[in-house]
Amino acid sequence: MERRICTKCKKDFIANLKNFKKNKKGKYGLSSTCIKCHNEWHRIYRLSNEKKIKDNNEKYRNENPNYDKEYGLKNKTKIQIQKKKYILENIKLVKKYHKEYKRRNAEKYRNLGQLYRDRLADPYIKSLFNSQGISNDRINSEIIETKRLIVKIKRELWKQN
Ligand SMILES: [Zn+2]
Repeated sequence: MERRICTKCKKDFIANLKNFKKNKKGKYGLSSTCIKCHNEWHRIYRLSNEKKIKDNNEKYRNENPNYDKEYGLKNKTKIQIQKKKYILENIKLVKKYHKEYKRRNAEKYRNLGQLYRDRLADPYIKSLFNSQGISNDRINSEIIETKRLIVKIKRELWKQN
């Protein structure tokens, strides 16, 4: 088996892709530094150029303000499929995360629910229908508006009693 000495750390390795990066111009088609040295170099390069890389990204964003949006539009279905796939593959993790999130934000959720109730916001009106076994796809804005009015009137009557 061919061997190759790393030009950086001078250690002796078997000349394969496990120990060296690919490099078409190099001997045996391999890079002259071992993977460890290469990664170390890359890490240092990234660290010392962090600001430059960040600035470049920022510059690109500024020059192409619609990039994210355009990318999102162009790849909408692709992104949706990826998201769905991720959720399906990680259903347990996702559920756990949601549960954890809800637990941690329980207070916030309670307050939000209170706020929705007080203001007769759409989510609250919808929840009234839902609790009667009517799903959201059977509710439109007109129905919500009507229901809101009914609840308002009921509340007024309740106050007067
Ligand atoms: Zn090395």
